[in-house]
Amino acid sequence: MQEKLRIAVQAKGRLNEGSLKLLEESGIHLIFGSRNLVSPAKNFPVEVLYLRDDDIPQTVAYGAADVGIVGENEVLEKKEPVEIIKRLGFSRCRLSLAVPQQVDYTGPKWFEGKKIATSYPGILNDWLEKNQVNAEIHVINGSVEISPGIGLADAIFDIVSSGSTLVTNRLKEVEVVATSEAVMVRNHSLSTTKQAILDELIFRLESVQRAEGKKYILLNAPNDKIAEISAVLPGMKSPTVMPLAEEGWSSVHSVIDENDFWEVIGRLKKAGAEGILVIPIEKMIF
Ligand code: ATP
Ligand code: MG
Repeated sequence: MQEKLRIAVQAKGRLNEGSLKLLEESGIHLIFGSRNLVSPAKNFPVEVLYLRDDDIPQTVAYGAADVGIVGENEVLEKKEPVEIIKRLGFSRCRLSLAVPQQVDYTGPKWFEGKKIATSYPGILNDWLEKNQVNAEIHVINGSVEISPGIGLADAIFDIVSSGSTLVTNRLKEVEVVATSEAVMVRNHSLSTTKQAILDELIFRLESVQRAEGKKYILLNAPNDKIAEISAVLPGMKSPTVMPLAEEGWSSVHSVIDENDFWEVIGRLKKAGAEGILVIPIEKMIF
């Protein structure tokens, strides 16, 4: 039987959807969903293990899985010997210290002698040591943000993204200790076969990532405007220009960045472009 690359992903939670979408877009179609512990793929030599995110760094470090998709925060916290091979750009968040809103925060020393509730004692401890602060760490799993309100702690150290949970609990963010996003980690020693499968997987992921935020644009233009229009289009290479059936007109194709989109469209219209079509791009291979 052919050797398979084992990928650990979160069974349910905030990383699950993004992880499975990424695999799906890379052409890896799983046979079973996350109600099972493991699923093979239909058409690619990989097998997915569905786990709790806390267990992913260790599972990869010990080789029960070859690679894993997990939050950088868990990698930092667990300190397992895994290697981050790819940043995946989803589930972005930060790990921050927050205190009750009425506190007059003066800097790291404010935490001296205080009790801090967190699910990330390792990262917090490193920060406290770095800032030479002695504080009591109170480890809780889940609903960390309610602990100051119920008198369980003076402050919290937790994941923040929009900050709305902090506001709801009358807390304010005072120190950003680390930032995080979903990452792909690997075991330090993979067989040649597994390494080759991983290389192919990475190639596919990069093709998907490259296409993100990019659009394919087609427009019609009178031939005497093509030079001006081409100058506006920051495509991969120079744009493709093809003659239209109508004499004196051409069709111009290129790739544009979603961020510059409205500005580019405005300039194209001014330069004489007509019938502009914008199409999503799924994958980009170089
Ligand atoms: P599990 O049951 O697998 O242990 P969990 O409850 O520990 O799940 P989730 O809340 O599903 O974890 O979060 C998983 C990861 O998603 C976190 O470790 C973090 O990297 C990221 N994350 C958590 N909260 C947010 C958020 N509000 N915005 C963006 N990313 C987040
Ligand atoms: Mg967890």
